[in-house]
Amino acid sequence: MKILVVNCGSSSLKYQLIDSETEVMEAKGLCERIGIDGRLTHQVTGKDKYVVEAPMPDHTAAIELVMKALVDPEHGVIASTDEIDAIGHRVLHGGPTLTTPMLVDQHVKDVIRECFDLGPLHNPANLMGIEACEAAMPGKPNAVVFDTTFGMAMPESHYLYAIPYKYYEKYGVRRYGFHGTSHTFVSQEAIKFGGLKPDAKVIVCHLGNGASVSASIGGKCVDTSMGLTPLEGLIMGTRSGDVDPAVVQYIANKEGMDVNEVLNLLNKKSGMLGLSGVSSDFRDVEAAKNEGNHLAAVALEAFRYRVAKYIGAYTAAMNGVDAIAFTAGVGENDKVARKEICSYLTYLGVKIDDERNDVRGVNRVISADDSAVKVMLIPTNEELAIARETVALIK
Ligand code: AMP
Repeated sequence: MKILVVNCGSSSLKYQLIDSETEVMEAKGLCERIGIDGRLTHQVTGKDKYVVEAPMPDHTAAIELVMKALVDPEHGVIASTDEIDAIGHRVLHGGPTLTTPMLVDQHVKDVIRECFDLGPLHNPANLMGIEACEAAMPGKPNAVVFDTTFGMAMPESHYLYAIPYKYYEKYGVRRYGFHGTSHTFVSQEAIKFGGLKPDAKVIVCHLGNGASVSASIGGKCVDTSMGLTPLEGLIMGTRSGDVDPAVVQYIANKEGMDVNEVLNLLNKKSGMLGLSGVSSDFRDVEAAKNEGNHLAAVALEAFRYRVAKYIGAYTAAMNGVDAIAFTAGVGENDKVARKEICSYLTYLGVKIDDERNDVRGVNRVISADDSAVKVMLIPTNEELAIARETVALIK
C-alpha cells in the first residue's frame, strides 16, 4: 500500500510517500510560505530535488501542488493519485478524549478543533491539512496519529498536576507529553534492535530543537517530560523547559508584560537561545563555546545536566533501566552531547565506547560490552510510524 504522510504547520506542509510493504520512502517534500507566496521542494528518493515556486494561498492549494509533483511524468513517482491508498496525518493534541490513532470523521475533526486552545500553533494547521486532503482526494481514508497518544498511558499519579482537581475535570489540565510518535517508535525499535526482553525498561532521549525524555516499560509510557504543552521538561532550542511558575508573575510585574507575553518569551526566546544569547541551533552554540563564549558553554552544560537529571528521575520512576536510547537532531548527530550526558550516569554502571559512539544517524549500540545499561543511538522515523498506524487502521 502507498501511504501519504502529512505534517502541517501554520505556513508549511511536510509530506512523505511511503510504500508500506517495503517501508521505503518513495518521495518526500516540503511546501513552505503557504499563505504568503509558496515554494514546494519535492524529492524522489535517489533523485535530485525539484523546486516549484507557485502561489499557495492555503493548504488545499499546497496539497494540490504536492499531488501534481507526485504524478509529474519527469519528477513524480506514481502514475496517478489513485495509487495512494490513504493519508496519515500527524496531529499535535488529541486532548483527554482522542487517545489512540483513528480514522477521521466529523467527530474527530470537531475534537481536534476543540483542542485548538491546547495546541494553538499546531492543531489549527493540522486540521487545515486534513480538510485540504479531503478536498483534494475525496473518498480516500484519512487517519490521525496524535503526538499525545504515548503519554495517555501514564498513570493518574504521574499525569495529574498538584492543583485543584476541578481544573482537570473542567478543562483537561494534565500532563499529556508530546513527541509521542517518536517515543513509541524509538522505544519499540530499541527493544527490537537491542535484543531486549519485551518488557524492558527504556529511557528515550529525543533531543532536537524540541526535546523530551520518556520512560517506558515494554513500550508503554510511565512518564514523559513534556506537560500540558511542549513547554515543560528539558531545555530546548527556544523553550525554557521547567521553571518555577512564579517566574512568570515576577517577570510580568518587573517588565510590565502580560501572561501571554511572558509565555511567548518562555516558548520562543528562552532555552539555548535565551541562555546563550547566541542561537537556538546547538551547532552555533557549540561554535560559540569553542570561541570562548562563557554563556554558550553554560547553556550546553545546562542542557546536558537537565537530560541527565531526567534520566536519574526516570530510572527511579521505573526502579531501574535496561536501555537508554538517543534520537533526533542532537541525539543522532552529537557524539559529544551523548558522551557528556552519559558521564553523569557512571553510578548506574553506564559506560560509553568512544569508537562505537563515533557515529551518526544509524541504529547502533554505543555502550561498552560491560556497561550495566545498554546505550543506543536509534534514529527516529515518525513518518514511518504514522504510515504503520495508518495501514493498521485501514486494513
Ligand atoms: P531536530 O529538531 O530533531 O531536527 O533537531 C534540530 C537540532 O539538531 C538543531 O538545533 C541542530 O543544531 C541539532 N543538530 C543537528 N546536527 C547536529 C550536530 N552534528 N551536532 C550538534 N547538533 C546538531
